[in-house]
Amino acid sequence: MKQRSKESVAKAKSLLSEIQSLATTPITIMEVCGTHTVAIAKNAIRELLPTNVRLVSGPGCPVCVTANGDIDCYLYLAGQKNVITATFGDMIRVPGSEKNLQQLRAEGADIRVVYSTPDALELARQNPGKEVVFLGVGFETTVPTVAVSLDIAKREGIRNYSVLSMHKVVPPVLKLLAEDDQLVVDAFLDPGHVCSVIGIEPIKFMAEGYGKPGVVTGFEALDILEGIVMLLRQRAEGRSDIEIQYRRVVKPEGNPQAKLVIERVFKPTDALWRGIGLIPESGLAIREDYSPWDAARKFSLPVFNSRETPGCRCGDVLRGIINPTQCPLFAKHCTPMKPVGPCMVSSEGSCAAYHRYAQRS
Ligand code: SF4
Repeated sequence: MKQRSKESVAKAKSLLSEIQSLATTPITIMEVCGTHTVAIAKNAIRELLPTNVRLVSGPGCPVCVTANGDIDCYLYLAGQKNVITATFGDMIRVPGSEKNLQQLRAEGADIRVVYSTPDALELARQNPGKEVVFLGVGFETTVPTVAVSLDIAKREGIRNYSVLSMHKVVPPVLKLLAEDDQLVVDAFLDPGHVCSVIGIEPIKFMAEGYGKPGVVTGFEALDILEGIVMLLRQRAEGRSDIEIQYRRVVKPEGNPQAKLVIERVFKPTDALWRGIGLIPESGLAIREDYSPWDAARKFSLPVFNSRETPGCRCGDVLRGIINPTQCPLFAKHCTPMKPVGPCMVSSEGSCAAYHRYAQRS
């Protein structure tokens, strides 16, 4: 074990020294994924890098990018009689316009934290007199398991199970970021988990069409340092490619089976992203074949045109325009104990990561 950690330290030093020699001019790199943001903060990677290598956080926290209107919509549904809401724990404290799921539960709503979609299906089997609604929030990484749960519900005829799909896909938001004049990002650390499903073909346009190189990167400190080195090497060699650092998990073609099940159950739809707006074909709606299990059709849900929480700058944080510490509410009025926006609640949220690990701006 000691031997291994000695090797890791030596490898980290060597990568940092390569970064130092390759970073001859300033570069801004966006880490797209919230898990990267947390790993960077936890390992103080920002502090270790030369000052002309700037890392900014991106929109890769699915809880954070869920629009206020969608949050108000699922809170409305969770408050209905006879409904059991099944959700991952990350959503419990995310504030809507007036309250969150935790407060709703204290008022008597039946809200259960589940660890997987099979748990949610089991809830439906055990409560045949109730409607169990799973809150579908996540990117391509979690969508296959939700799709499989809908396949099972259809096959077994579990009619009291449904999914409220607020899922989002990553390539359209990358395109929007590449076209954003306000944002000056030179290169991207691309999301390892998402690309393990979709592969690299759907994001190649970033390098080929927009000249924004990317490296699909893993989540250990050494992975991230190596991802940065690979990006700097591309720049030094005058290349713009999408490369894979996280080769132990990500294949260029992704996971064909996972892609098939997503395609069978979901279809692209326009989706509203917090602080970013409506992005064409960036969401996933449940296909007609599965409509009896689509909570959006099963329940008559009103449309909530909710505004962003006043003062919260999650939207700018998610686009990499500001770092969390530049939000006037950060650590003053907004803390993990009393969060104003979802970026301070989610375990993958940038504001929570900066707060927890006291990051430099
Ligand atoms: Fe929103 Fe709080 Fe982050 Fe500011 S610090 S952007 S209020 S979540």
